[in-house]
Amino acid sequence: MDYKNDIKYRKETLKKLLFNIQKYEDLIIKALYDDFKKPAFEAVLTETNYVISELKNTIKNISKWARPERVFPSILNFPSTDYIYKEPYGNVLIIAPWNYPFQLALCPLISAVSAGNKVVLKPSELTPNTSTIIAKIIEKSFHINHVEVIQGGIEVSDKLLAKRWDYIFFTGSVTVGKIIAKAAAENLTPITLELGGKNPCIIDETADLKLAAKRIVWGKFINAGQTCIAPDYILIQKSMKINFITFLIEEIVQAYGKKPEKSPDYARIINTKNWLRLMSMIEPEKVIFGGESNANEFYIAPTLVEEPGLESPVMQEEIFGPILPVLIYESESDIDKVISKYEKPLAFYIFSENDSFTKKMILKYSFGGGCINDTLIHFSNKRLPFGGVGHSGIGAYHGKLSFDIFSHHKAVVKKANWLDLPMRYAPYKDKLKSIKRLLDWM
Ligand code: NAD
Repeated sequence: MDYKNDIKYRKETLKKLLFNIQKYEDLIIKALYDDFKKPAFEAVLTETNYVISELKNTIKNISKWARPERVFPSILNFPSTDYIYKEPYGNVLIIAPWNYPFQLALCPLISAVSAGNKVVLKPSELTPNTSTIIAKIIEKSFHINHVEVIQGGIEVSDKLLAKRWDYIFFTGSVTVGKIIAKAAAENLTPITLELGGKNPCIIDETADLKLAAKRIVWGKFINAGQTCIAPDYILIQKSMKINFITFLIEEIVQAYGKKPEKSPDYARIINTKNWLRLMSMIEPEKVIFGGESNANEFYIAPTLVEEPGLESPVMQEEIFGPILPVLIYESESDIDKVISKYEKPLAFYIFSENDSFTKKMILKYSFGGGCINDTLIHFSNKRLPFGGVGHSGIGAYHGKLSFDIFSHHKAVVKKANWLDLPMRYAPYKDKLKSIKRLLDWM
């Protein structure tokens, strides 16, 4: 079991994992439904199929990614050949959240394994059915001394964080992200933090309103709004508001019917704590659509809130649920007043046909990633880095980048012996001019 040095072994274990995920796919989908009624379609699109595709891509490319990479040498070192070796960090801890509990546990795990690490995964305690099937699949795919799942809540996290790790990969809230960063700092352990934020969605007067409404309703209410990159709030040009709200309502009804509670395509809030947190954000006098709820079912209808003040509860923190505030702007300084009130968001969306406006917004604001004229879809391109900036996270992953973040990149210069230029050696007398000329020339 030489997972550190034997690429073939890593590939074989990942193939076994692929086999087991495909074998147990129905059970994974059922577990996700039992945990918070995640619709099967969403479970396949955003969890099982996503992981399978990441796994296939990794298996296909692992040999190429793991190979020492030859880079162009510096003329100063002539004659030499220069390489970057990809060295596994060693022992990796992965702590996962509950909102995409399968995907956000398995994707970093696949990458950590592909890079040759030993892994401990702690899935979320809030999705016990999914965490149990994850543990079963991992047990069937890996030797326990290679990859292990440890289930539990904060106490278990605390115990794990008290140990020394070579890398920690965390996905979750900003508050817990800070706890992870502090624990990692004890041993100067490198980390990736995939966190959240308040993601703006700007709509200007040139936008295709109907299409914007459709794409926003999809991105906001998938997983009942419990998506780290869901649009958090709308900022729309004042004159477009009434029409846009009409389209939003039409699209919600089209997607989930007049009674979303009965829709098989609409998930539930994860638990009482989050249900109460979200309910406390809804000010009934501001609700223009939705607002219905059912405590027994952890249900909250897709809810539109009109022009809440920046001091209102819904504008204090990341919503992370099916409540969509619609704010208006008249000038760019109105936009700035709202966006600059919050930390750098994980995602940023603009609906506009005006290229200079979209470019200006993208250059002006710092954010993890985003889309023009759509929502969420930047997540799905393996060639794009996925991660936050500032409070929305540290580091980014997906595709080859995931392999790279779990590898230490070791620089090695192999110097040839057939030539040994005397220039760099002391005594330096009479050499300064020549070295300056050489450096200027380079
Ligand atoms: P969370 O931070 O509460 O929990 C995440 C993990 O940390 C869980 O495994 C949990 O057991 C553990 N944990 C909780 N409290 C802890 C503590 N005090 N000490 C140590 N470990 C602790 O997050 P969550 O509620 O599971 O997920 C929601 C948050 O995650 C949202 O803010 C969302 O934006 C963010 N998120 C980010 C991404 C991303 O890719 N950037 C993806 C999903 C969710």
